[in-house]
Amino acid sequence: MSKIRVLPNDVADKIAAGEVVERPFNVVKELVENSLDAGADKIEIELIDGGLSLIKVSDNGIGIEKEDLPLTIKRFATSKISNYEDIFNINSFGFRGEALAAISSVSDFSIKSNGYELRVNFGKIEEIYPASFNPGTIVTVKKLFEKIPARHKFLKSPIAEFKEIIKLLKHIALLNYNVSFKLINNNNVVLDLKKDSNMISRAKKVLDENYNFIMINYQNEIKITGVITPPNIQKLSKDNIFIGVNKRAIKDNQIIQAVIQGYYRKLPENRYPVAVINIEIPPDQIDVNVHPAKLFVRFYNSRLIFKEVYKAIEESLDNKSSNLIDNHNIINQNVQKNIIKEQDIKYTVDLTQMVNIIDIETTDNNDDFEELLNNEFKIIGQLFDTIILIEKDNELWMIDQHIAHERVLYEKLLNNNETVSSIYLTEPILINLDDDLLTFCEKNREKLLKCGLDFEEFGKNIIKINAVPNQFLNMNIEEEIKELIANSANDIDENILEPIFLNMSCKMAIKAGEKLLKNEMYEIVLNLLKCSNPFTCPHGRPIIYRVSKEEIFKRFNRQ
Ligand code: ADP
Ligand code: MG
Repeated sequence: MSKIRVLPNDVADKIAAGEVVERPFNVVKELVENSLDAGADKIEIELIDGGLSLIKVSDNGIGIEKEDLPLTIKRFATSKISNYEDIFNINSFGFRGEALAAISSVSDFSIKSNGYELRVNFGKIEEIYPASFNPGTIVTVKKLFEKIPARHKFLKSPIAEFKEIIKLLKHIALLNYNVSFKLINNNNVVLDLKKDSNMISRAKKVLDENYNFIMINYQNEIKITGVITPPNIQKLSKDNIFIGVNKRAIKDNQIIQAVIQGYYRKLPENRYPVAVINIEIPPDQIDVNVHPAKLFVRFYNSRLIFKEVYKAIEESLDNKSSNLIDNHNIINQNVQKNIIKEQDIKYTVDLTQMVNIIDIETTDNNDDFEELLNNEFKIIGQLFDTIILIEKDNELWMIDQHIAHERVLYEKLLNNNETVSSIYLTEPILINLDDDLLTFCEKNREKLLKCGLDFEEFGKNIIKINAVPNQFLNMNIEEEIKELIANSANDIDENILEPIFLNMSCKMAIKAGEKLLKNEMYEIVLNLLKCSNPFTCPHGRPIIYRVSKEEIFKRFNRQ
């Protein structure tokens, strides 16, 4: 008897739904993008419990005809494309016709437009009812995944879900500044943005009224618009760099890196700007169909994009900063070390001004994340800026931050879970190597590429470096590369599987003496515990030192 069967449509829909919608975040994204596609300039998003109980999106867009209502929730039914080639030339956010099919198969769903409402209960279509008239469209999603326990259990707490949604909406609202957005959660108005006429005024409302944003209006091989902060704003994380392509909110580490590179020598190491960058590019230059939730896109010429973004930032900053203090190198070095040396006293006035307005985030509130992990371990803090202290299984664990991080990175590289993100150099670097090292490089090209190093042979004993790991950016690039190659070629310890990876990990890992935020500590420890060998580094040094509760209590004569 045949064992293979074609799955019924409702089962297929529910499976496909898992790819498009994972959590309330994705639902909000799809619904808001539909509203934007419908030409709405007023969108209201109402949530209960961070979207877990209710997500309602109302817009003033073109609406839907009664006879089209049932088609909206059919898989691969869309008004936006008609043949396959179209997806290489779309101006709309949606095109796969999948979102509403997916969402309506895993929730108590309703879509209402032009005086009619269609309701779907976890994939079961109810009939179309006459409803009160509303301009545009209202989509309501209740009880997301409630009848699908396998998916429901992966949802986070309402606060965690809500935080992701608010971040997303800020991202979308920054790019679509000429649309008004209102976000309500549990009856509290969280965002209320009237239409803006330019990105600066939107950015001030969404990010910070006090920032003196610099407008970017760059047109070369591609067009880049956006706003960025001057170098006196210094954030501890990259979370305030928002990227868009044709106003679509996307995630792209390469582009974020290009933004950071645009601040080269203007910001201290590990400090980041606030930026909103919109890349305007003909739709046939990108592929938006590479990710089911459309969070990532592929650029056909990512190298050009990188270079252009970098140049757009650098030029805008240079135009602006000429009237600022022209010796920002010295100033930034001082800010970085938090000291003002005597010989620089002549800059003191500028320096103190500079230091005073520097906005360094010190809060790291990450409550939900902590809540989740507290069962596994609890971060106590950082000792001597070098050792992470945690409480775990009735023990005190002291973890060396540098070698812990090194171990994490090493295993990730080894297990192919990570490639180091790299930066294309606008001017390649030529490096002289002796025969042995050159042979070593040629033999290990793949591994070096994984470490972010892209090179080619360039005449006798010379290699031309095209791309380097991000970490090298603020360093002496040539020296770092030579050292990496030489160390890796010399490391012959048999405990080390891949010397290149180990040397790279060592370079990338946070150093002893670096202050860490609590969430950074969480990340290191969490990843360390996932390692196959969390306790010793490949060179044999211990990573973790444990003391039991009994032992500690004994010291205090406590039973
Ligand atoms: P896609 O956006 O990929 O076309 P969806 O499943 O998100 O697929 O939506 C299916 C269709 O329903 C859209 O092509 C559009 O015609 C219609 N639609 C969805 N939401 C709205 C809305 N808010 N306003 C007008 N039409 C909408
Ligand atoms: Mg859509």
